[in-house]
Amino acid sequence: MRQPVLFLGHGSPMNAIEANIFHQSWQQLGRELPKPRAILVISAHWETDDIAVSSSASPDTIHDFGGFPPALHAVHYPAAGNPELARRVAELLAPETVRLDAHRGLDHGSWGVLLPMYPAADIPVVQLSLARGKSGAWHLALAQRLAPLRDEGVLIIASGDMVHNLRLLRWPLDKAEPWALRAQNQFNDWLRNDARDWLADPLAAGALAGSTDFALAIPTPEHYWPMLYALALREPSDSLTLFNDVVLGSLSMTSFRIAQQDLPMQSPA
Ligand code: ZN
Repeated sequence: MRQPVLFLGHGSPMNAIEANIFHQSWQQLGRELPKPRAILVISAHWETDDIAVSSSASPDTIHDFGGFPPALHAVHYPAAGNPELARRVAELLAPETVRLDAHRGLDHGSWGVLLPMYPAADIPVVQLSLARGKSGAWHLALAQRLAPLRDEGVLIIASGDMVHNLRLLRWPLDKAEPWALRAQNQFNDWLRNDARDWLADPLAAGALAGSTDFALAIPTPEHYWPMLYALALREPSDSLTLFNDVVLGSLSMTSFRIAQQDLPMQSPA
């Protein structure tokens, strides 16, 4: 069966170990999705000047954050890597040059969601980097070349946050900033209508509409780009289901699942 594709809004690193609704939704995904042979993650937390794929057979757990409790720094996610899958990704992305990175570990955009999903860490994980300085259309086109992996038992997980402005984050987070809510609602409309051209360049759409909402939502692109990797893999026969559609201040947790119609649907968390 063709594997689904996930975009997960990951939010705070603490979601990895806190028993909140996001953590629980990731646990539920792990229980309900068909078990993959391997996982390919595209995380907001790995940007490179080139295109790189992690090819270590036993990737480290990277604690790429500061100021969090020791319990989070103590997390070790011991999933194996899969050098063969890394080479397959490089092959699919040709003629782009892809660097196999034998030293890269798993960042928290990756293990933060995988720990709740697959606590046994018994599925090999490979990461694909985000190339800096490229357009949304470029990322969409690149991601489309990964499509054969879905039929090869590989679960593709894109991990970021569509609305992500930490500079404007104010506690408590229970109230969504109006511009953040407007931006996310527009993203959701575009997702429902598969409006890829708009989603590839929301800043242009914002400029056209005289709105600063998207510029505030995407002050830097790295948390937004992963979403395009999931979107690019949507086939006409797939459904797209939004879940965790919550805006916390200036950060959105909105996530979606792309799956063939015949995959039993979970109740959105
Ligand atoms: Zn992040």
